[in-house]
Order: sequence, then C-alpha cells, then structure tokens
Amino acid sequence: MPTGQHWYVSVTVAKGARSGKRGILTSGVHGDEMSSVHTVQTVMNQLNPAQMSGTVMAVTDVSRPALESMQRRWPNQGRGIDLIDMNREWPGNENGATAPSRHAGLLFNRLLRPNADFAIDFHTGTTGFDVTAFNIAGMDVPEIRAMAELYPVGQIFDNHVYPGVLHNAFVDVGIPAFTPEIGAARVLNLEMISLFVEGTMNVLKHHGILAGPLGRTGKDVGVFIGNSALPILATQGGLVEHLVKLNDKVEAGQKVAIQRNTFGEVVAEYTSSVAGEVTGQRSDAMSEPGNPLAFILFHKATPDGGETYTE
Ligand SMILES: [Zn+2]
Repeated sequence: MPTGQHWYVSVTVAKGARSGKRGILTSGVHGDEMSSVHTVQTVMNQLNPAQMSGTVMAVTDVSRPALESMQRRWPNQGRGIDLIDMNREWPGNENGATAPSRHAGLLFNRLLRPNADFAIDFHTGTTGFDVTAFNIAGMDVPEIRAMAELYPVGQIFDNHVYPGVLHNAFVDVGIPAFTPEIGAARVLNLEMISLFVEGTMNVLKHHGILAGPLGRTGKDVGVFIGNSALPILATQGGLVEHLVKLNDKVEAGQKVAIQRNTFGEVVAEYTSSVAGEVTGQRSDAMSEPGNPLAFILFHKATPDGGETYTE
C-alpha cells in the first residue's frame, strides 16, 4: 500500500484430530458481501476439531481494504483513487504491476493453494443488484458437480464464467472449487445463510472431514440448473419497476420490467427473450442506460459463453 505496509487477512483453521482432506472457505473477495462472511463464520463455529478428519481453513476478508469501507472493489492509488475488482485478479502475481495483483499472488501462492484439496469462494449479489440463493459451478467437472448439488438452494448456474475469478484459479491448478451466491449485498440474510451452512456441512461430510448423515440437498428443493444467464440491460435512463420477482419462472416474450422518466412517462419496456428463472434483479430503483436490470437463468443447448454474470 502507499504506506509501504501489507494488508493482513483473518485466517481461522480447524485442524482435525485425524488427518484427511483440506478444505478452504473464503469470503470478502468483494467488500460489500456480508452474508458470505457470516456463512463462513457460522460453518467454522460449528466445527469441533476433536471429531474431524482433515482440516478446514477460513479466510473471511480476502480484500481487506474493500471490506474496510464495505464496497465491492479495492481502492488503489493510480491517477487519483481507482477501484479494482479483486475477482478479476486471480491467481495474481507476487511481482505484479499493482498492489491488488501482488496481494492476490501472495495469498494464492502462500496461503490458499498449498492448503487446499477443495475450495469454496462465497459471494453475494452486489450493491444495487440482488440475487437469489444459487451456486456458480462448472457441472461438467464431476468433483465440482458433486459438491454443488449438496446445497438445498433453488438454482445452479452451470458455467465456467471467466478467467481471473478466484474459484477458477483453483480449478486451473486442479483443485475443485465453485462459488455460492447468497442473496443481496450489504445485509445479513440469515435465512439464506442457513441454507448455505447446511450445504457446506454436507460438503464437509462428502469429503469425510465430518461424520454423520447429510442434510437437505438440491434434490430436496427441486434445484433449477441453467447453463446461461441472459442479461437484460437498460436502454434508457429512469425509474425501474419490476414486474416479476427473484426465482419467478418467466416465458420467452414475457414482460419483466418497465421504466419511467421523471415526468412519469414510460420510456422503455423490457421482455425476456428466453424461458427460464429470474436469478438477479437491480434493487436500486434508478438506472441509466447499460445497467443490468435483470438476469434470466436458462438452459441453452450449446452454450456460447457469451452471457456474463456479475458475481
Ligand atoms: Zn462477489
């Protein structure tokens, strides 16, 4: 940092009495995603090392300076204050050109990678944009699929998304990993958190770190799996009124939102071009052109990777 100091991160380790697999739980790659932090803390609080076979390590505030101001991105000093999305930096570079790249490289090379047989990087929606409870997971990788299916949440986004995200840095070095998404940013959604705690305890049992029967899984809640996420982008500025809710099923051609200018005139109407389920919605009522208003999770026979999701 400009002071010449590094950032510390908060590391908690539950080392079992017996050896076994090593799992890593991370949160705070984005600084405004508080339900992800609390999910990891709740799992760690339920662990009893005397009864464990293996190790679970938690890092709850990966992007420390972003958490300090509860904002998504890492503030750095370029030409004035700049903001860097840490989930585009992985695996980082210890000698990289920027502080966030070096921070990512140091964490990944010296803390995360050497201690992981599997990893789960918890997120939420972002400030101004709410999401459902779902997992982002490359379901074509059997070890990843087996974990993602163990969560009693309504949706899975079966997609490798893009390079630079932390869970893909793990996958690229042969460590199965995925990303849960736990509702809205900035708040603790205790109801959703409990679903992800239950799923994560299932994962620890699946790997033999914990003993005991599994809790509820995706099968029990009829999980909807889509391999694509259609972004519906604002074409105008104005106040947004949603006509559907998170998790609703929508048909192709269904109107999902309208937008009014400050005179109250309807300036745009938005329809979904696909059939699927609503997985994310803008929660800030005002929008300018280009902002995502909604994401529709759907299944495409041959996914082209063109769809993007802001995790
Ligand atoms: Zn995030």
